[in-house]
Amino acid sequence: AAPVALVSGMSRSSRNGIVVKTGSVLEKMATAKTAAFDKTGTITSGRLFVDQITPVAGTTKEELLSYAASAERSSGHILARSLLNYAVKHDVNLLEVQQLSEATGNGVTAQIAGQTIKVGKASFVAPNSQVAETTQTCVYISLNDQYIGTITFIDKLRLEAAQTMQALRDHGVKHLMMLTGDQQAIAQTIAKEVGIDDVRAKLLPEEKIQALKTVPESEHPVIMVGDGVNDAPSLTVADVGIAMGAHGATAASESADVVILKDDLLKVAKAVEIAQDTLRIAR
Ligand code: ADP
Ligand code: MG
Repeated sequence: AAPVALVSGMSRSSRNGIVVKTGSVLEKMATAKTAAFDKTGTITSGRLFVDQITPVAGTTKEELLSYAASAERSSGHILARSLLNYAVKHDVNLLEVQQLSEATGNGVTAQIAGQTIKVGKASFVAPNSQVAETTQTCVYISLNDQYIGTITFIDKLRLEAAQTMQALRDHGVKHLMMLTGDQQAIAQTIAKEVGIDDVRAKLLPEEKIQALKTVPESEHPVIMVGDGVNDAPSLTVADVGIAMGAHGATAASESADVVILKDDLLKVAKAVEIAQDTLRIAR
């Protein structure tokens, strides 16, 4: 397309709260056949609330919360932020942490008073324990590799999620995928509600990349939509990376080709629509 048309497409996008970083992105978006979505914070609202706090026998709710919130205090993960909000509201005692590290897509490890606290996926916090899967997004907590409890979260679907999927299909983006680090059953339930058939769950960030690479050439270009730091690598790998960036400049926004400034998933379909209009004008 003529550069002048692309520039006008970019400015129309920008008036709609959609930052398109280069003109060539519009050309790829206009012909996209696949869109892959992260789940937490992208298809769901990402405003999660602590629901059930379930310690094992011998541990109190207060202890479990105190360990979990203390270990998560400097993580940028959406579950960590929700946990900290809850902890502040409920005057949870935050313990002094000697050492902290985060394993992206898995969870965090903290040294507290000579003990090792892990918060995250079951396989990460207590690889040798049998921990039942929940039907809600959750974190598992271990103390010196012994499982000590689970905290579940309420995470609502975005109101506009199903409508977004339909609008994309209407614009020729027929192959819709969900790529999530969360558990299979949770992913399936949400995918069904919004109308996504192709669901890949329990993925680490590098496995999200692998999943994108399995999309056949005939279903390219591929759009990837995500919000979190763990989505940054897959946003880079997709033909078009779109970041939900309403919550400020993040690693996801930096890696993306398109940043959506409003907290509205429908803008993804709007971006494709504008791209298609732009290319039609240019032809
Ligand atoms: P999604 O791909 O749906 O955005 P993530 O890959 O970010 O999900 O996380 C998947 C799961 O990994 C979470 O539900 C949680 O159990 C665990 N997890 C990842 N990072 C953290 C963290 N910082 N703190 C606690 N749990 C984490
Ligand atoms: Mg996410």
